[in-house]
Amino acid sequence: MYARPADSLVASAAATEAAELIRRCVHCGFCLPACPTYRVTGSELDSPRGRIYLVRQLLEQGSATATTRTHLDRCLTCRACETACPSGVQYGRLVHLGRELVARQPPPLPRSRRERWLRSTLLAVATRRVLFRLLVRAGRVVRPLLPAWLRAHVPDRRKIEAAPQRYRPASSPLWPAPRHTRRMAVLEGCVQPALAPEINAAAARVLDRLGFSLVQARDIDCCGAMDHHLGRTDVALRKVRANVDVGARLLDGGVEAIVSTASGCGVFVKDYAHALRHEPVATRLTGARVAAATRDLSEVVNPVALAAALGSPTRTLRVAWQSPCTLQHGQRAATRGKVEAILRVAGCELVATTEPTLCCGSAGTYSVLQPALSHELRSRKLAALSGDRPDVIATANIGCLEHLRRASVQPVLHWIEIVAARLDDVP
Ligand code: SF4
Ligand code: SF4
Repeated sequence: MYARPADSLVASAAATEAAELIRRCVHCGFCLPACPTYRVTGSELDSPRGRIYLVRQLLEQGSATATTRTHLDRCLTCRACETACPSGVQYGRLVHLGRELVARQPPPLPRSRRERWLRSTLLAVATRRVLFRLLVRAGRVVRPLLPAWLRAHVPDRRKIEAAPQRYRPASSPLWPAPRHTRRMAVLEGCVQPALAPEINAAAARVLDRLGFSLVQARDIDCCGAMDHHLGRTDVALRKVRANVDVGARLLDGGVEAIVSTASGCGVFVKDYAHALRHEPVATRLTGARVAAATRDLSEVVNPVALAAALGSPTRTLRVAWQSPCTLQHGQRAATRGKVEAILRVAGCELVATTEPTLCCGSAGTYSVLQPALSHELRSRKLAALSGDRPDVIATANIGCLEHLRRASVQPVLHWIEIVAARLDDVP
């Protein structure tokens, strides 16, 4: 597909880049059945190919309509279309460029007051670790008094406590003191410390048993993914620049890897070199170094070492594995099959599921900004995961975990909690 940017966009780096990305698309339509929004609405404009046409139109006309923005907003950026595309179209990058161009166009397209409030509140609250933690604590206290739409977004601690003890370690986080010379640093994330501090603690206990001390990378701020997804590229870039400096200092200090227990953060940090592509050479090199040292947790838990530490688990746990889009479509070969192998070593039977590539509808802020589509996708995903009656659903991203947990009959856990519970049983 060919797009010639309008005169008003000829000097725009984002427009040039978008036109280049579009060129790979051959209109074949193989991506359509893979696209969750197309499958729900049946509209070509809610498909990857339809959105590519919309971005081409935006480039050629120099501005977008509210309709174009609506269909770009509805994209989950799950990147299932990239996995399905035989031409290698980097759709995830393209849709962000499209959103950036729409956000910057003069005069700006107006949004309703409610939409503006939701977007600014999400960015002000969910990307600030301390503020988010305070609000979650306060929200849990007053949860029964909140209106239903707001209550749905305040995590219910009883859902976590409802998971039988054998599926998870003690609820109070227990972080082993550093005792190994080999160290890794773990990203804290913005929302995870408030919603599920037990996940990083479980990762620390597992890695401790495998010969690594896990330290908290407290000085690494919000990774910037949320700002990036909502079109605040400048803010995201500021965070990326600051984080690569901190990350480089950690690596200089002897940390072997920067570990992410949330695949949504990990996929963005692994792409820091791309985010910094317009920066001076020194910044680009530092970004590339930090990105190359970043690992999803499943890449650093060695199944052979784990098997030696566990012995032969006697109990079988029936687990439905939900691979987040940011893991399967975002991190791809680096993580493919790794969690499944680890869970099997930990004595889990992976039950049959359907629609393994379908997004659960969480997608960062999507569940708040596009609730109808998001809830429809969650219902489909939970049906696909629970058909074989698992004891528990396991995932690898805090956003998916909270989103699924709100509507799931089965307990929903991070996979490392299951592994840590198994190891906690072994003296
Ligand atoms: S599968 Fe790829 S090449 Fe084919 S229409 Fe979709 S994006 Fe274009
Ligand atoms: S990223 Fe996901 S929702 Fe967006 S067009 Fe691709 S498959 Fe569809």
